Amino acid sequence: MSTPTGNTPVIQLHDLAKTYETGEVEVKAVRGVTLEIQRGEFVAIMGASGSGKSTLMNILGCLDQPTSGIYLLDGVGVAGLNRKQLAMLRNGKLGFVFQSFNLLARTSALENVELPIFYSQPLVSLRTRRQRAVQALEKVGLGDRLAHHPSQLSGGQQQRIAIARALVNRPELVLADEPTGNLDTRTSIEIMGLFQELNDSGITIIMITHELDIAAYCKRIVVMRDGQIISDSRNENRRHAHQERATLDQAEQSAKLA
Ligand code: ADP
Ligand code: MG
Repeated sequence: MSTPTGNTPVIQLHDLAKTYETGEVEVKAVRGVTLEIQRGEFVAIMGASGSGKSTLMNILGCLDQPTSGIYLLDGVGVAGLNRKQLAMLRNGKLGFVFQSFNLLARTSALENVELPIFYSQPLVSLRTRRQRAVQALEKVGLGDRLAHHPSQLSGGQQQRIAIARALVNRPELVLADEPTGNLDTRTSIEIMGLFQELNDSGITIIMITHELDIAAYCKRIVVMRDGQIISDSRNENRRHAHQERATLDQAEQSAKLA
């Protein structure tokens, strides 16, 4: 594999397509997507249910291969890599966050976050693994919940663990599929605040959402319909979650005092 230069786009897609063949029926889930995403971007991928968002995300995440077209991740062609190489790419360069958190139930927050380090670098000592997992959990504000199991935590806290898990291998790119889909409004703002903070620190994020309210926190909004991109624009007036949180808190405080 070639070594990419600093300004290689993280994602380059050219005329990408994915067709599912299920029995007699053919579903053209992605139909000719061309897209470039640079380092440091925070992109929302929007579109109605069935428009191909998850299919595209699975391809971006090297969980599935396109039927045709070109996909370069960090300058490296993904087509033709075998399972093992794809897994290495996933573990080394990508972090995933899902709507349903996907945490191991009877496992502490700390162990949930340690696991991806073990998978990508089995030779790293337990001690170093612990340290890195603790740091990642501190970064998402859960330094005081290391031994808690997912069932002992709120939805927002569980999503924070999932975000810590996504970050622990220092990925090039975080892929999030409807990360606030199971969260209430206030918690969604908190989680978007965390994503904005991570993005400000240089992490590239691609987030699927079908909610305009949530896409409004991203820097760029790509809209899909029927497997194609129908618009792609900068979000000039984006929402700032931390400011909104502070305003909400203030309003609650004054309501209490009144
Ligand atoms: P979205 O995430 O935008 O809701 P999807 O990418 O999940 O859209 O689906 C796009 C289209 O592909 C839909 O018509 C869906 O039914 C179809 N599809 C998705 N996954 C599969 C699959 N594994 N096999 C067959 N068809 C699929
Ligand atoms: Mg989907």
